[in-house]
Amino acid sequence: MSLFSFWSDLKKALTYSKDVCEGKPANVYVDVKSRSFRKLVNNIRDTAAKLSREAEAAQEEKNRILAMMGSMNEGVIAIDDDGRILFLNPVLATFIGVSPVTAHGKFYWEVIRDLQVNQLLEKALREKAMLSSEDALFLTNHVFEMRVSPVFSNETFQGSVAVFYDITQIRKFEKHRSEFVANVSHELKTPLTSIMGFVETLKEGALDDKENARRFLTIIEDQATKLHTLIDDLLKLSRIEAQTTELHHQNQDLWPLAEKALAYFDKTIKSRGIRFRFEGLEKPLLVNVDTKSFIQVLANVLDNALKYNHDNGEIVFKAKRTAKEVVIEITDTGVGIPDEDLSRIFERFYRVDKSRSRETGGSGLGLSIAKHIIERHNGRIEARSTLSQGTTISIYLPS
Ligand code: ADP
Repeated sequence: MSLFSFWSDLKKALTYSKDVCEGKPANVYVDVKSRSFRKLVNNIRDTAAKLSREAEAAQEEKNRILAMMGSMNEGVIAIDDDGRILFLNPVLATFIGVSPVTAHGKFYWEVIRDLQVNQLLEKALREKAMLSSEDALFLTNHVFEMRVSPVFSNETFQGSVAVFYDITQIRKFEKHRSEFVANVSHELKTPLTSIMGFVETLKEGALDDKENARRFLTIIEDQATKLHTLIDDLLKLSRIEAQTTELHHQNQDLWPLAEKALAYFDKTIKSRGIRFRFEGLEKPLLVNVDTKSFIQVLANVLDNALKYNHDNGEIVFKAKRTAKEVVIEITDTGVGIPDEDLSRIFERFYRVDKSRSRETGGSGLGLSIAKHIIERHNGRIEARSTLSQGTTISIYLPS
């Protein structure tokens, strides 16, 4: 209903007393039986219904937007042009340690205690502009990037909305990557420096000293082998991590796989007088694994059980099926691992005893490779150990 028709219906429905013409206070009578009055009432009723529908739709829209902002992974805060909080989603509320309800209506600086955040909000309100944080922001152990956008309605500035992007994981990955590059460079540099040193010594005259020359060449050969192992392990790890190697899982007996892994160490086991035995009643013991990568896991664990064992020590390879999985345990009687290092030995390049590991040709990647492979089999690998007594590495495979 237009304002004009409303007004004309209203005029027709009213009867003015003569006093109006005489400039006295008006007595207005309504002819409730007139058609105009009925039309007017209907119009008012229609308009009220329409307004109520529109208000309901607007409320629904508002609820939808609030629900959307509430379920966002990013932190969101909306403030009016005075800096009062109109909305604060639960994610941001958690990070700044307030309740969204109590924050509502307060000034942002009463609720947010971070100087950088507040400075950015203040600048965004002052300049009515879009701004981003230049440096990472730290709120309760999380790292954020913040972007503030101005809100205009009919070209009038209403306030600002700030979105906080949690970049903690990205930062962690970046840190891991740079640590990894630093570690790899260091690992490659150590044997290379040694090789270059001995080549230099040979060139400077040691070549004529037959006995020493042979010794130096053996060292060069050892260091080159270490480099080769390291590069080989790095490639394996990168292929598993990038998931470029397809695994072909098949049901097969565990024991022949264990025999194959053990075969790599036959000579060392004999030369060091290590006693080795298998324990397990279920034969065959079926496991659903990719043959090549699973033998690699067993070989890496057996390699450590030997490397960190004492001469004439013992290794037991035990396997059994429980209600929900197959459990494989490889136990040695070696040097053991201190409690504080136990949870870290599956990390790339983590070594408990650095000199001992390098001495034995370890790349520091063996257990990390094993862990990745087992996780791709939906299993898990764990370690327990008693210092100076020995270590048990347990592999759990879903059955
Ligand atoms: P490495 O090539 O150095 O052996 P790994 O990733 O296989 O690398 O193992 C990581 C570290 O965990 C080793 O350097 C060693 O300090 C420790 N470790 C692993 N297995 C054993 C074990 N059976 N006994 C004692 N220490 C072990």
